[in-house]
Amino acid sequence: MTRVGLGRDVHRLVPGRKFLAGGVEIPFGKGELGHSDGDVLAHAVTDALLGAAALGDIGELYPDSDPAWKDADSLALLRNAWELVRSGGWRLVNLDCVVMCDKPKILPHRENIRHSLAQALEVSPEQIFVKGKTNEGLAPTGTGEAVEALAICLIEWDNE
Ligand code: MG
Repeated sequence: MTRVGLGRDVHRLVPGRKFLAGGVEIPFGKGELGHSDGDVLAHAVTDALLGAAALGDIGELYPDSDPAWKDADSLALLRNAWELVRSGGWRLVNLDCVVMCDKPKILPHRENIRHSLAQALEVSPEQIFVKGKTNEGLAPTGTGEAVEALAICLIEWDNE
């Protein structure tokens, strides 16, 4: 049995915060505002995996009203959610992602991001791909006001 999952997230970009993508810090004058560390890609991936297994969503499992998740490491949340999915017998076939922002450029960091996500999910980097897309200067992701991420995954359950 196979199932697909889709995740999407957006965060406002503000000075004085780290710009994080899949656990990788990218040098930039601004970063994601958020209750957690704001890692937009980690959040989209978490929702894709949870959605594929119909196990809820990130807002439900790690609500931003809960002080426990203040400044939370989003990769730790991702690992936690993936453990939940995996414990149901699922394994990852592949994960494909898009990070949308004109700046900073994602491509120079692609391999680091693939490796970071692969490490968190305990899979091969070959099972993960990440693309950066610009928004042609259009607000909000093209003007540096926000960053958006999309993730789609395929998971597989083997009853043998
Ligand atoms: Mg988020």
